[in-house]
Amino acid sequence: MGILKDTINGAAAIAQGMGVTFKAMLSPKTTVQYPEQKPPVKERFRGRHVLQRHDNGLERCIGCALCAAACPAQAIYVEAAENVPEARYSPGERYAKVYEINMIRCIFCGFCEEACPVEAVVLKHQYELSGYDRRSFIYTKDMLLLPGPDLPAPDGAIANGPKERSNTPTSDWRASLG
Ligand code: SF4
Ligand code: SF4
Repeated sequence: MGILKDTINGAAAIAQGMGVTFKAMLSPKTTVQYPEQKPPVKERFRGRHVLQRHDNGLERCIGCALCAAACPAQAIYVEAAENVPEARYSPGERYAKVYEINMIRCIFCGFCEEACPVEAVVLKHQYELSGYDRRSFIYTKDMLLLPGPDLPAPDGAIANGPKERSNTPTSDWRASLG
């Protein structure tokens, strides 16, 4: 009698286990074929930084270094220089002559983005940031700045005037992030 009971209990346990297996087989797959298939990230995901431009092509960054001051990892280095009427980079008095982020130090907290008074530095959705040596993780201004017209440009050659600032609302530039 004991053997029969054990056999029934064992068969019931196997059936229960196989039920879980078949249920999982029929449920939607949660794995994706990365890297060919990239899973979408949340809208507020913080990935690679970029330096944005105004609508007229001028650099948003004014070299104030508030982002560097706010960075808890001391990952940002900014060296400012003066704009002159013959050679302008940004609408402000100054621009970032050197702008570097050490991506090895970065913890993607977004404090730099929060601290920036002109929405110049933003963290986008790119997360594939591997490299083969430490130097390649120092992202320079050339690497960070979004494509645009060649700068510097004289004041007269800048569309809408050299002081033009596009105050794109945060929600709008978030939506345009890749
Ligand atoms: S995301 Fe945070 S850690 Fe990274 S550079 Fe900005 S402030 Fe520094
Ligand atoms: S990115 Fe923003 S906070 Fe940083 S130096 Fe440029 S303007 Fe200042």
